[in-house]
Amino acid sequence: MTKHAGKGHKYIFVVGGVMSGVGKGVATASIGTILSGRGLKVTALKIDPYINVDAGTMNPTEHGEVFVLDSGLETDQDMGNYERFLGRDLGPDNYMTTGSVYLSVIQKERNLEYKGKCVEVVPDIPLEVIRRIERAAEAAEADVTVIEIGGTVGEYQNILFLEAARMMKSKHPDDVAVVLVSYLPIPGSIGEMKTKPTQYAARTLNSAGVFADVIIARSEVRLDEKRKEKISIFCNIPKERVIAAPDVESIYDVPLNFEKDDLGATLCHVLRLPNGKQTDLHDWESFVRKTKNFKNEVKIGIVGKYFDTGDFVLSDAYISVIEAIKFSCYEVGVRPHIEWLSAKKYQEDPEAVAELSGFDGLLVPGGFGETGIEGKINAIHFARENKIPYFGLCYGMQLMTVEYARNVAGLKGAHTTEIDPKTKHPVIAILPEQIEKLAKKAYGGTMRLGAYPCELSDGTIAREAYGKAEISERHRHRYEVNPDHIKRLEDAGLIFSGRSPDGHLMEIAELPRLVHPFFLGTQFHPEFRARPLSPHPLFTEFIKAAAIRAKKG
Ligand code: GLN
Repeated sequence: MTKHAGKGHKYIFVVGGVMSGVGKGVATASIGTILSGRGLKVTALKIDPYINVDAGTMNPTEHGEVFVLDSGLETDQDMGNYERFLGRDLGPDNYMTTGSVYLSVIQKERNLEYKGKCVEVVPDIPLEVIRRIERAAEAAEADVTVIEIGGTVGEYQNILFLEAARMMKSKHPDDVAVVLVSYLPIPGSIGEMKTKPTQYAARTLNSAGVFADVIIARSEVRLDEKRKEKISIFCNIPKERVIAAPDVESIYDVPLNFEKDDLGATLCHVLRLPNGKQTDLHDWESFVRKTKNFKNEVKIGIVGKYFDTGDFVLSDAYISVIEAIKFSCYEVGVRPHIEWLSAKKYQEDPEAVAELSGFDGLLVPGGFGETGIEGKINAIHFARENKIPYFGLCYGMQLMTVEYARNVAGLKGAHTTEIDPKTKHPVIAILPEQIEKLAKKAYGGTMRLGAYPCELSDGTIAREAYGKAEISERHRHRYEVNPDHIKRLEDAGLIFSGRSPDGHLMEIAELPRLVHPFFLGTQFHPEFRARPLSPHPLFTEFIKAAAIRAKKG
């Protein structure tokens, strides 16, 4: 059955006003958490206005992390927040860009699927958007589907998505709600919170034929009753539908904070959903309590490359890794202290790695290309020799294999062919099908992407951590451990504890506990599966080892 509005399925569009970067994604995710807490099945979608067909071709320093879904779709980092706040995997229809929508409309036109009709920007583009939203709702069997429209109202770029919202709402006014996430500045020279930009944002939205049902008022401090009244009068909504959203300590506080203004009950009222229930955020609350309550600290160093535009962007580029570390720290009961370490520094000055002994755990995350590569290998070498817990993710696992090959297995000059195609010992190499794709310059969406099964060997750290023999994890890479070198590496003591079911692809490499407290790398990206209420077992093992080192001082 399709999830058409008008058949009991409900849709909430979240749009931004005044300026970007005020937490529309977290607001969308939090609405999901709250409505799930009212016993509703919720899914969430992100619409990005870019022409890029997916987020896979965007530079993380500019756009933040590329978040990969089970399906292999490369998406915006907000999708990671949705999965973490909803505690649920999202499907391939839950993310779209302008480029992907146009691409499928044009493909359909080429296939004569419009049956000779003149295909037009309006209504055919919004109709395709609506089809995708309904497909996502159907696939998730959702009661409520929350859709974040990227950008800010008043831009040209997102107007066709607002038109899709308008079309859905004009047909089924009781099944579609619009939430405007706005910003109330407190200009330093005036020292008073101003509502006028929000009034303009609401009016701009109105000029697209869309009216806000709820306004989430982001601000440094909680907005007062007087300003709620003002927004209510000038933006045409009852006062109780203005929700205060002051800055909070952590994004995980946001759902609890929205509930102080009864956002859940308000949305149910707007959408004519049964309203008798209280929102039950019991599990979420106990997680949030854990984020504020710990005795000891662990110092984790992330050796990475995307530093160049400053810390702010850096944390965006690795957001899932950072959150995964935090969830496991909360689980273990230690305070996360994360520092960014520039791989370039350890490349230019190999002696500088000595400072790494001050860390309780080191992590090399995913990455591409040459920048800082020898620095990362130097850091891994130091972590192995000095028994500092080490966790390598994707590139971090490949480089750990290179380090082991060079310094333990006696394969001098070993490398990945990504960096040195002529290396004598290509311990990490490209798959034949990837060579063909690259020769055709087919870069977009062509890596080994998405969820693949993996089998774990008994008696290994990985097997113990997961507590089961078969797992599934998400991938995003072109290169693999070269099958020709496996025997040599194993003979030298490296254990491939996770493999693809056919045995050909090495998914996890580790050293036994007797040799090293934690030296493990994964070809996949476990960070995409870490959730607040279910931290990732490998991250938890890593943090446990780091906590032991921290205790020893
Ligand atoms: N550059 C490596 C590859 O393509 C690793 C990719 C990653 O870390 N995501 O295989």
